[in-house]
Amino acid sequence: ESTVRLRVLVARLGTRFVMLLAEDRTEAHRLDEVRRDFVANISHELKTPIASVSLLAEALDQAADEPERVRRFAGRLSVEANRLAHITSEVIELSRLQARDALRPDELVDIDDVVAAAVDQNRVVATAKGVDVAMRASTKATVYGDRALMIVAVHNLVANAIAYSNEGGRVGIGANVVGDTVEIAVTDQGIGMDAEELERVFERFYRVDQARSRNTGGSGLGLSIVKHTVQNHGGDVRVWSQPGRGSTFMIRLPIAETPADAASAETVEH
Ligand code: ADP
Repeated sequence: ESTVRLRVLVARLGTRFVMLLAEDRTEAHRLDEVRRDFVANISHELKTPIASVSLLAEALDQAADEPERVRRFAGRLSVEANRLAHITSEVIELSRLQARDALRPDELVDIDDVVAAAVDQNRVVATAKGVDVAMRASTKATVYGDRALMIVAVHNLVANAIAYSNEGGRVGIGANVVGDTVEIAVTDQGIGMDAEELERVFERFYRVDQARSRNTGGSGLGLSIVKHTVQNHGGDVRVWSQPGRGSTFMIRLPIAETPADAASAETVEH
C-alpha cells in the first residue's frame, strides 16, 4: 500500500514540477518576445532618421553653390540629428530602468521640488504654443528614490499634456497627499484618447497616430519611462481620457514622511 501511496505522491509532485516548468518556459518565451520586439522597434525607429541624415548630407553636397538651399538642408539635418539623440537617450534610459528590478531608496526626494522642476523645463515650449500651465504643489511630502528620474517622469507627462493640447489650451499640474501616498496629476484639455488607445499608451513605442505624433517629435517611449520609473519607486500611474475632451495622468507614490510625521517629530524635539 505504501508503494502505491508513494507513487501517487511522486505523480503529484511530478505534475506540479512539470507545470512550474511549463510556466517558466512561457514567461521566458514572453520575455524573449518582448525583447525581440523592442530591438525590432528600435531598429525601425532609428532607420528613418538615419536615412534622412544620409539623404540630406548628399543633398547638401550637391547644393554647395546655393546658400539658401544649404541653410534649409542644414536646418533639417539638425532636426534629424536631434531626433536621433532624443530616441537614443530614451532607449538608454528605458533599458536602465528595466534592468533594475527595484530601486534602492537612496535619496529623500521633495515632491514639490520635483513638480516645480518638471514644469520649469516645459515653460518655453508651453509659451511658444500659447498653452497656459497652472501648477499647485505644496504637499511638503517626501518620497524615497531618485530625484532625477522622478523629474523625468513628471516632465514627460507635462510635455505630453502640452504637446497634445490645442494652441491656447490649458494644462494643470497638482500634487496632493492622500493617506500615505502622494498623487501628482497632470490634466489637459487637448485631443484625448479613446478606450482602445488608452489601453496601449504605456506600451513601448506606442503612438496613437504615427503621423501626428511624429510631428510632435515623440518616440513613443515617454510613457513607458514614466511607468517603469513609477513602478521602480513602488508606485503606479493611471490615466483617464476622453477623445476631444482631454486627459489626466496620475502618478501615485508612497510617501517617506508625511507633513504630519514631520510636525510631530518637531514637537517631540522641543
Ligand atoms: P510620444 O513620445 O509619442 O509622446 P509617449 O509614450 O509619451 O510617446 O505617448 C504615447 C502616445 O500616447 C502618444 O504618441 C500619444 O498618441 C498618446 N498620448 C500621450 N499623452 C497624451 C495626452 N496627454 N493626450 C493625448 N494623447 C496622449
